[in-house]
Amino acid sequence: MPTVETVNGPVDAEELGVTLIHEHFRAIDEAGRFQFPHLYDEQGEWDAAMHDAKAVKRHEVKTVVEPTAMFLHRDAAFSKRVADESGLQVVLATGVYSYDHLPQFLLNRDEDAVAAIFVHEIEHGIQGSEIKPALIKCAADAPGVTPNVEKIHRAAARACVQTGRPIMAHSRPAGGTGLVQMRIFEEEGVDPAKVQVAHTGDTDDLDYIERLLDTGCWIGMDRYGLDIFLPTEPRQKTVLALLEKGHADRMFLSQDYCSTIDWFPLEIQDSLKASEVPKWSMTFLFEEVIPELKERGMSDEQLRQMMVENPKRWLGS
Ligand SMILES: [Zn+2]
Repeated sequence: MPTVETVNGPVDAEELGVTLIHEHFRAIDEAGRFQFPHLYDEQGEWDAAMHDAKAVKRHEVKTVVEPTAMFLHRDAAFSKRVADESGLQVVLATGVYSYDHLPQFLLNRDEDAVAAIFVHEIEHGIQGSEIKPALIKCAADAPGVTPNVEKIHRAAARACVQTGRPIMAHSRPAGGTGLVQMRIFEEEGVDPAKVQVAHTGDTDDLDYIERLLDTGCWIGMDRYGLDIFLPTEPRQKTVLALLEKGHADRMFLSQDYCSTIDWFPLEIQDSLKASEVPKWSMTFLFEEVIPELKERGMSDEQLRQMMVENPKRWLGS
């Protein structure tokens, strides 16, 4: 039986249970936090993370995958504390989350050297701890697959080929990046069944989604509540159409919720959230999305496939 690394060591893939495949207990800029700590509220961050960890536990979630990479203040000790104090299993990633910018230490290393950084963490642990990443994260967004983005993708691919760890690729369907990202992975010899193209649910273009599925990847229908990218109703229609076409075995449902995010000043966050993404939370799926999908025809078996079986098969691959 395959095992999956969590912040408390490897668990049998069978033990993952109901899994949220893409949530963040904190998503802030590590440079901002280190240089300008007065902009941040560490106790508030902790309280928000614990609030959400406890809330998802009440919905019988057993595992949360936190694909927080470099530039989102990935912090293995913080995530382990969340797991220890909530009883959740938390799964971490290695990788770099950049839409283009890279610091000199990455610009001046080639793909193989960057891959070696990821492999080191997979073999030895994150940030000097014994906590190992279960997946490799990379990202492409509005700027497209720029040379820097391509470098990180090739490095992620090489680390995947060397270690067998799956890849989660943040994508931007509006720019059609998913197909380009999959082409790079294919060129690098990555088994497409190791790759999840995150944020595919930001589009209701079934043609694009099916072309992506044809490559053999998994897709994240993982931003429920983020109306700024796509409102809930077209997300629901798209998931139902894909279920009808028999794609339950390739989809994940999640929210890409961030218990704390520092993209906007703290003092305007509450009003911004209320006006732009009023339903976004770590439990929106359970409170509204899943009950409605069931009402509109999703079977219990399809739900189990997406929330239990697929995480087990992808992470345990
Ligand atoms: Zn995310």
